[in-house]
Amino acid sequence: MNPETPLRQVRGVGPARARALAAAGLETVLDLLRHVPFRWEDRREVVPVAAAVAGRAATFRGRISEIRRIRTRRRGFSLVRALLADGSGAIPVVWFNQPYLFQQLRDGDEYLLHGAVRERTTEKPAGRELVSPTCESLDRALHGARIAPIYPSLGPGLGPAMLRRLIETVLDDFAPASVPEPLPAELLERHGLPPLGEALLALHRPEGGVELLNERRSPAHGRLIYEELLRLQVSLALLRARETAAPRTLVYRVDDGLRSVVRGLLPFRLTAAQRRVLGEIVADLQGPHPMLRLLQGDVGSGKTLVAALALVVAMESGFQGAFMAPTELLAEQHYATLERLLGDRYRLGLLLGGRSGRGMDAAGLRQRLAAGDIQLAVGTHALIQEGVEFRRLGLAVVDEQHRFGVRQRALLRRKGEATEQPDLLVMTATPIPRTLALTAWGDLAVSTLDELPPGRTPVATELFPARRRHAVYQRVGEELAAGGRVFVVVPLIEETGGSAVASLAEAEERVRAELPGWPCAVLHGRLPAAERARVMQAFAAGEVRVLLATTVVEVGVDVPEAACMVIESAERFGLAQLHQLRGRVGRGARPSRCFALHGRLTAEARRRLAVFARTNDGFEIAEEDLQIRGPGDVLGTRQAGLPALRCARLPEDWAWLERARDDARELLARLPAAEIEALSGMAADAAAAVLNP
Ligand code: ADP
Ligand code: MG
Repeated sequence: MNPETPLRQVRGVGPARARALAAAGLETVLDLLRHVPFRWEDRREVVPVAAAVAGRAATFRGRISEIRRIRTRRRGFSLVRALLADGSGAIPVVWFNQPYLFQQLRDGDEYLLHGAVRERTTEKPAGRELVSPTCESLDRALHGARIAPIYPSLGPGLGPAMLRRLIETVLDDFAPASVPEPLPAELLERHGLPPLGEALLALHRPEGGVELLNERRSPAHGRLIYEELLRLQVSLALLRARETAAPRTLVYRVDDGLRSVVRGLLPFRLTAAQRRVLGEIVADLQGPHPMLRLLQGDVGSGKTLVAALALVVAMESGFQGAFMAPTELLAEQHYATLERLLGDRYRLGLLLGGRSGRGMDAAGLRQRLAAGDIQLAVGTHALIQEGVEFRRLGLAVVDEQHRFGVRQRALLRRKGEATEQPDLLVMTATPIPRTLALTAWGDLAVSTLDELPPGRTPVATELFPARRRHAVYQRVGEELAAGGRVFVVVPLIEETGGSAVASLAEAEERVRAELPGWPCAVLHGRLPAAERARVMQAFAAGEVRVLLATTVVEVGVDVPEAACMVIESAERFGLAQLHQLRGRVGRGARPSRCFALHGRLTAEARRRLAVFARTNDGFEIAEEDLQIRGPGDVLGTRQAGLPALRCARLPEDWAWLERARDDARELLARLPAAEIEALSGMAADAAAAVLNP
């Protein structure tokens, strides 16, 4: 059967099924064959029932009788029982939650069953039983005594059994050599991989190697994983090449004059890491193409200062700068920091949503920005909205990039003139695990601040069950008595029957009761900007000593005098988020502590909190987070605009990812554009949409 044949021409596929398959993304025979099994059962050896061993899976062949449906008291829970007998003896069989089997199984018919045997303990009589085996009527058994592929369901009407039947039909008339090979032969040779047709056949009708198959280590697996990752890497390399292919039009002035300006502005000596990273950025700014660089550094590593100095380079060269933050609170903070650092020499403006801060009216601000009078615009998404024009945007800095989609980045970039691509520096305090950086960013240029400014003390983190809250707050009280300032962070959750605001008010009451007499203020995202600014100022000035906050304090808030944090219901936060929260303390010379109070813990939450308490290293935390949550969640591949992975899994397939990246680079350098496009596997406009939506 031709791989390009539409599925509706396959025997057994009517219009309705064809539609269901199409809805699952399968149009052709090849699409169907690319839907590969996720598990293989070795049914080559049929075991006599008498020889069944508890604790092991095996294949049996016999007649089924005494089929009973057992009603249970637990709702939504069902049992079907039967007896399986062959020449050697009989064994009870039980299926959990497959009530339809009661209708399907026919008393006295012969079946092939594959499943785990266990010693039963609750049921009388004691003995072995076969638990939820797969079950095939022998006269219909497609796989007889061989290795049976088990397929992931594609939805109603496209369950494992149906898929298997369809794929068998297709394979009955299938020549592996008829499948066009999308990968260059030399790459297959380099990695010792089979051609596509052969790989597919080996997965659907394996001859052996069940263990390798189930561990995804067969050559056929390697082949599909590699292909998928190569396509991804080629797409990324292509996009990046396109984005940075534009010749540089903005010329920056980097000379002694600039150096002395920078020296004059510096509030402290740069760390060695800051100096190195600034050098990397300046080199980009003088390079032949617009910059697209990711600056990653743990919380408190001093990214803002590096960004500010890069912006100075732009402004001294006569360009405007933009600094975009994900939340209003953070934008306000950055504005205050940058104003303090740069305000004597440059004109700054703050743009927040409809309103704007510090007495500037938004319309006036936009006008001054368009006229070039404002040299540095700090703000939120407001910066990339319709109607915001720069006269000559040079460098755009995006803080906490993981909260910005690719789309926002592209929009910011467009604020430059049509012929001028501004330079782009994206920053993140959630270090992107090596694995993900490579997946999501391909070979995006990355700078890393791997050193904290001097005088930092690691935060000592301790976990406490909620019932010890009182003891914890006593220690917090001592910290306050010694002159300290304290963050109390609460998750904002809608308690049953109450509202988020009510749960915050309740938390406030509790904190005030625990810390009587200490000036306390509440900070959350729904406060008006002016009120938020006032609260932050009061806390920074020490008029407020206890700041009760939601996760709005997660990023960027910088009050070095605060050396103590309580996180309430810590189990409700993700690992990366906990680390961000904790990053608000440990910023001054004072030894800092973080108390994480928690309720009942799931195994996963326990692991998360244990990692949190054990390490202060953002990179280690990022890797652990990836292990615990999986890559999709950590980065949100969908948000990043990248295709989801079907076969490949990360970080398990890391080695393949590296090979794919290296090969992609090489291919891009030597294959003609049309072949690259074909390989990228994304339609040209879909690819363009990733970086230029
Ligand atoms: P990040 O954004 O990377 O989390 P910040 O830029 O907010 O970190 O910097 C954290 C704190 O460290 C700020 O108070 C900042 O003023 C201070 N800082 C930055 N660089 C240095 C340095 N080289 N020496 C001393 N303090 C620094
Ligand atoms: Mg920051």
